Amino acid sequence: MSKSDSSSALTPEPVWVPVPLPKAEMHVHISLALSVESFIRRVKKKRTSIKLDFLIERESRYYPALQDFHHTYEAMRHITSTPIELAEVTQTYLERIAREGCIYAELSFSYRPGADFAAQIEAISEAIEVARHNMGIETRIVVTTLRDAGPAVAEEAIRACMKIKSPYIVAFGLVGDEAMGSLLDYKDQFALAWNEAGLGLCPHVAEQSLHNAVDFMSALPKAALKNPRGPGQKVRLGHGTLVYRSSELMKRMLDSGICFEVCLSANKRINVPQQVDVRGTKFVVDRPKREYFQTLADHPMLDFHKSGIPLCLGSDNPLLMNTNIGKEYALARKFAGASITDCVQFTRNAIAYANVDAITEKRLLHLVDVYESKIKSGFQPATTALNYKAAFSLAKVWPD
Ligand SMILES: [Zn+2]
Repeated sequence: MSKSDSSSALTPEPVWVPVPLPKAEMHVHISLALSVESFIRRVKKKRTSIKLDFLIERESRYYPALQDFHHTYEAMRHITSTPIELAEVTQTYLERIAREGCIYAELSFSYRPGADFAAQIEAISEAIEVARHNMGIETRIVVTTLRDAGPAVAEEAIRACMKIKSPYIVAFGLVGDEAMGSLLDYKDQFALAWNEAGLGLCPHVAEQSLHNAVDFMSALPKAALKNPRGPGQKVRLGHGTLVYRSSELMKRMLDSGICFEVCLSANKRINVPQQVDVRGTKFVVDRPKREYFQTLADHPMLDFHKSGIPLCLGSDNPLLMNTNIGKEYALARKFAGASITDCVQFTRNAIAYANVDAITEKRLLHLVDVYESKIKSGFQPATTALNYKAAFSLAKVWPD
């Protein structure tokens, strides 16, 4: 063993985010939260063109362009789609993050025409109930459709949600290619989701194209824009990262009271176009481009936080980005400048913008209050808010 190996083995890991700190997972595509063990089984059965090297070659989980990511996403998504596979991934992921201190999660699930949507939701719901029974974690579902599939499929999905009447489906979102059309094309669908289906709204916005943020504000139903923290119905932006390019847009977002779901690993691992796409909007791009691909030191998260925009965290696609929500909190602390107090605030924001009833919101907030009051009185809890105890009590930053 070399001298440096020897000293690093003896030096304790710095404390980034304690396991007992209550966390919330607000942006995760559950079909891509596959465990390493399940992925290996699928590869052995030749269910995907992706090779096992994917797990150990660092560059394979970095995506120089969005198309590279989409290629991997589509090669992976279908290998977790039957009811049994969805139940397994949901229970396994929820129990994993509960052990890291997570108390609440909103899982995104993609509606695809032709699939047995009711059976898929039933399987995910059963896994949610089992994970709550085993670990105490509370969970809801965001149903999404692809921008590439267009407004008709979005409407089909919202109507399918209305038909199923699942207590776990609480919001509607849009994913996929942000360059496809305009979010204004979805004005009627957002209105249907908010006004008739009673769903919250949390589409992907301004991860890759800034004009989406402007269009989104215009596409929102009046009631949602007026009260993005409505009872049981909330408005959040998936990502919102590129909003930092315009001071004016940042101010407008702050005034709107809409919450951003920050996904640090996703931003670090998927590159953004060199030219910012403002497409016909009047917003002035007055702030210089920041390089956060491959590194988080220049990520705008703290700018948003300091400006007062409410932020929560999400892991996005855990298997594709080698992450989970415990790691996202640790990355925020270690690389993006967040303090422990900021991390607790991210969880408070998540609960404030969770699509849950008032009683559940109060119960979740109480867990955070109890943790904070213990910390303030100088007592470091040994268990998570849901009473899980880890032999190691501190979350570490996982190596790349
Ligand atoms: Zn996403």
